[in-house]
This record gives sequence, structure tokens and C-alpha cells, in this order.
Amino acid sequence: MSFASSRLAPVKPSASAWVSQAAKEARARGEDVIDLGLGEPDFDTPDHIKEAAHQAALRGETKYPPTNGTLVMRQAVVDKFKRENALDYALDEVIVSNGAKQVLFNAFMATLEPGDEVLLCAPYFGQYKDIVLILGGVPVPLECPAEAGFLLTPDQLQGVITPKTRWLLLNQPSNPSGAVYSDAEITALGEVLADHERVLVLSDEIYEHILFDGRVFRSFAALCPGLKDRTLTVNGVSKAYAMTGWRIGYGAGHKELIAAMTKVQSQISSGACSIAQAAAAAALDGPQDEVRSFCRAFEARRDLVVARVARIPGLTLAAPGGAFYGLIGCAGLIGAKTPLGETLTNDTDVTAYLLKAAGVAAVPGSVYDLSPFFRISTAASEEVLNDAMDRIARAVSDLK
Ligand code: PLP
Repeated sequence: MSFASSRLAPVKPSASAWVSQAAKEARARGEDVIDLGLGEPDFDTPDHIKEAAHQAALRGETKYPPTNGTLVMRQAVVDKFKRENALDYALDEVIVSNGAKQVLFNAFMATLEPGDEVLLCAPYFGQYKDIVLILGGVPVPLECPAEAGFLLTPDQLQGVITPKTRWLLLNQPSNPSGAVYSDAEITALGEVLADHERVLVLSDEIYEHILFDGRVFRSFAALCPGLKDRTLTVNGVSKAYAMTGWRIGYGAGHKELIAAMTKVQSQISSGACSIAQAAAAAALDGPQDEVRSFCRAFEARRDLVVARVARIPGLTLAAPGGAFYGLIGCAGLIGAKTPLGETLTNDTDVTAYLLKAAGVAAVPGSVYDLSPFFRISTAASEEVLNDAMDRIARAVSDLK
């Protein structure tokens, strides 16, 4: 007997969760495994944020919150957008959800008609595609190769928009590539979209604070003010404040879009945890020095990994501009033979080999719709990253 509906047939479970599960199973077998699969900061949530949650619980903020978010948290979001992104949103143009992931789900659920197309810039965060598929939309991957800096070009965008196109999903700094657009590149994409009024833009800015080499982050809606009404700006506290477990994300956009998303959310979850919202408001309103020190640590690790990969024949990695991943090119390993005589035919074979031979768990590029690559997370200490790179270098040198 099958329990799952046909809607779930094309959907895969989260790949990084799957890789981490494989790492855990290998550990349970007694193998020494470094898990570089999961995308979450290895730092702890700053204490003042935890304290705000504690105080909220003691104050009795333990009842159902408003579906679209507590007033305090929505105000914190409005203030954050004004202060950090030069974006003016009203309180009814903001929604707070269980993670950025639920913001995405709400948005697509609220807007997609069956067969509507969602443009995804490959390599992309794998769950975008699965959410679109669950909701009966059609994901349209646009290949953004390493040679193009993993960036979408205006010509490419112009060539793929159809009457069915409903969303363009942009994510920068990108998971998995770390790619960041220049202001001019974003403006040029905005110019293409200006003529296509049915197309909405989802700008996933969840890694905005993890940005390297002195870059300054600019929100899509701030760079393309003419498209602000058609843009949903998505963010959250998971990555910047080391708060993945608190499950708070938020979105801002046209008030009718937010109202439709709130309707969806009212049927799914009745809103996000009141105590976690109090914590998230403290994160946005409070001191930002830990965010900056997390970013400095991620930049140093980025430098370490880029330097180490440059010394491993067959692997390539251009310095990512932000986020905490390395999307490592492994074209030079395809066709090589392992010491057991197996041929590495694709990046899934490469990651399976690295797990077995090096004890390093990484995610194959196929998960992000761009091959041959594998993604490692740099959310690990320099000591652990050095150990992982030693192991990868050894395993690669054993190939023939
Ligand atoms: N967007 C991107 C690009 C991500 O990498 C992630 C998490 O890995 C999310 C959204 C979801 O974040 P949240 O924890 O807020 O649901």
C-alpha cells in the first residue's frame, strides 16, 4: 500500500539532510567522518538573544501569536529593512514565518497556478525546486556556469521568459556557489523584468550578512525600485545569528501578496513560535558585533579552503563572495579510477568516494542542478577544515 500522494512523487528529501544522515550512519559503523554537508553555522546563538526568549516566556508570551507575526517582530523587520537595506515597508507588508523556507512555501502556494513556471538560477538551493514541484509549478533551471561566475545574465533571462513565467528566484550571496551580483548586474536583470508584468521576483537574501572582501550588500528591491511591488524580499535569522533551530524567517512585499501568504500560513501553522519571535526581534534590534565576527571567521575559512583546493590537482574553486560554502569543481576527477578499480563517472561518485576513502561528507553538485561539482560547508573550525582538506588531498592523490 502506498501512503504518499502523487504530488510527492517528483519530490526528493532534502539532500544535505541525506548526506548528513549518510555521515551519521558511517560514524555509527565506527568510521571517522567529518560532516561538511549541512548548511548551518557552527557558532552558538548569542546570549542576549537567548535571554530575550527567556524573558518573553516569563512575561507570559506563550499564547497564539498573530498569524502574520507579533507586532514587536514585524516592527523589528520593518526597522531592519529601513536601517540596513534602505527599504520602506509598512507593518502589513511583512510576514514572519517558521523559517525562510516557510516564507517561500507560502509565497508559491499563494501565487502559483498549475503549470506556472519558476525560473531558478542553477546552481540553486535544492529545496526551491522541490517546493515548486509540490505545489504543481514547473521549475525552470537556468544554467549559470562557473565561467559566468555562477550568475544569470540579462540575455539569458530575456530568452526564457514565457507567458507562463510567474517567478524569478534570485539568491545572493548564493547557496551553494557564494556568488554575488554587482549592483549593475542586478539593475540589468531588473531592466529585462520591467517589461514582463506578470513576473514576480523572489529575492532570497538570507546570507546578506556573510559577505566578503569589503562588499556592501544591496537588496534587489532597493536597486530596482520600479519592481519593489512585484518583489518579495526574503530573509531570516538562521544564518546571520546562528539561529537555525529557532525557525524564524520573514518576507516583505506588496500587501496583497502578504495577505495571501498569511491566509496560507493561517491554515498551515497559525504563525511562528511567539518566544522564538521575541528572540528574533532581539537579534534584529540588538548589537550586531557577533554577526560581524561570525562573518570574519567565515571569510578566514573561505581563504583557507580556496588556498587548499588550489593545491589539489583536478579540483577548482574560485573565491566565493559570500555565504559559507565552497562549490568545488571536480571535472578533473571524472573518469579517474579509485584504488578499488571503480571509475568516477559523475559528482555523486566523487562524493561517495570522498565519504568512503577520505571520511569527508560533501553534497554532489547534481543536487543543485550543476555538475560536476561538490559542495562543502565552511561552517566548521579551521582545524576541522584543514583536516578535511588533508583527507581530500590524500584521497585525490590515490586516484589513477
Ligand atoms: N534560503 C537559502 C538560500 C538557504 O540556504 C536556506 C537554508 O539552508 C534557506 C533559505 C532556509 O532558511 P531557514 O532556516 O530560514 O528556513
